[in-house]
Amino acid sequence: MDRRHFMKSSIMAALANPIQAMAQSKTMKIKKGHIAVIGAGAFGGWTAHHLLKKGYDVTLLDVFGPGNSRASSGGDSRVIRGIYGEDKIYVDLVARSFKLWKRYQKQWQQSLYFPTGALWFFQVDDTYAQKSLPIVNQAGLKSEQLSKKEVEKKFPQIDLNGLKSFYFEHEAGYLPARHCCQVVLENFVKKGGEYKQLAVEPGKILNNKLSELILSDGSKLNADSYVFACGPWLSKVFPDALKDIITPTRQEVFFFGTPYGDSSLFESNMPVWVDFGKKIWYGIPGADWRGFKVADDTRGAEFDPTSGDRTASETGLESARNYLAKRFPSMKDAPLLESRVCQYENSPDGNYIIDKHPEAENTWVIGGGSGHGFKLGPALGEFVADRVIGNKGIDSFFALSRFNNDLDKKTQFNP
Ligand SMILES: Cc1cc2nc3c(=O)[nH]c(=O)nc-3n(C[C@H](O)[C@H](O)[C@H](O)COP(=O)(O)OP(=O)(O)OC[C@H]3O[C@@H](n4cnc5c(N)ncnc54)[C@H](O)[C@@H]3O)c2cc1C
Repeated sequence: MDRRHFMKSSIMAALANPIQAMAQSKTMKIKKGHIAVIGAGAFGGWTAHHLLKKGYDVTLLDVFGPGNSRASSGGDSRVIRGIYGEDKIYVDLVARSFKLWKRYQKQWQQSLYFPTGALWFFQVDDTYAQKSLPIVNQAGLKSEQLSKKEVEKKFPQIDLNGLKSFYFEHEAGYLPARHCCQVVLENFVKKGGEYKQLAVEPGKILNNKLSELILSDGSKLNADSYVFACGPWLSKVFPDALKDIITPTRQEVFFFGTPYGDSSLFESNMPVWVDFGKKIWYGIPGADWRGFKVADDTRGAEFDPTSGDRTASETGLESARNYLAKRFPSMKDAPLLESRVCQYENSPDGNYIIDKHPEAENTWVIGGGSGHGFKLGPALGEFVADRVIGNKGIDSFFALSRFNNDLDKKTQFNP
């Protein structure tokens, strides 16, 4: 039995075991209150984890499962990096996330974080990285500017033509995304959290409170608070209150085979990379032996996360091939190993949404990862949990009120 099947069956076995279920319901009774979290992706899974850790009785629900193939967290790998322009709030959350990824991979004895470093290269203005450098270094994430000569010497496998400046982040790397979501759930259940694989609809809002959840098995669930972390589906769950807040877009990702006998593009010799030009390309070399990952960060067409066609396009493939041939010449004519179509769940300004539902004070809406949410999962879950239980106030940076006057704020770069 492979690792994933083993984990899935152990979660299911834990749920099916009546003694464990009794033990679970006993622990539930003594908890501080009952919170239901809807969505077991990077945002919901980690939020559920932290709420449970803080002594709450938590039910986590997901219609398709943690890191499923339709979810935004359902990819093989996601970049973790600290350079975030001038947004100190993200840099601080990433710094905290690095600590938590490391802590939990040790505690749970699972590989969750692969530190390859990250190389950023700019064909265009590099203010984004330049201004970030002091902020990331102050947060303890060692990062530096490199000269072209240094990069040429260190990474001869990259064609530096047209590139003007270079930055290297030492702690950056990648996270095996869907595996991480499964591990979070597995440990949530082990610690007494309750998981239900069901579709959820919010019940009625009465007297400024959500009354209950309606579940796809016909049952209802009552909790003291509700956290909706439904990724690209968030606006669909609350079509009136969150109408144009989340726009899922179609994103294509390609995995290519590196040349036989050439290890220069293996992750042991090649960091995660981001190439800023007219377009932004980024990639991860070889995570989980899927191949050399390449993706164009440009927002694609609007996409339905449930029924959208997940076949990659010929034009997308051609564009990836042309890019690769230029920047990584040994990859010219590289065989395509796999392609995936996923969706970014974009907020209007590319920043997250962490706020109460405008009409229900016991209900939180969490999302808008906008192509950069995965890495922050552990710190974001902690950040959300603190707000849901009232330890900290809503942060205006993530509040819905920022869209009151302007839903057309521009999405920024954020892989
Ligand atoms: C191609 C691609 C590349 C990316 N690269 C990076 C990267 O390099 N670094 C990075 O940090 N981030 C990256 N991201 C972004 C990141 O993956 C997402 O922002 C993050 O995973 C979002 O997590 P989430 O929990 O909000 O959403 P999701 O993972 O989509 O989770 C939402 C969950 O809610 C469940 N759900 C929805 N509606 C219901 C309902 N009614 N009832 C029950 N369950 C429901 C779904 O089944 C799903 O599991 C990338 C995204 C994509 C698509």
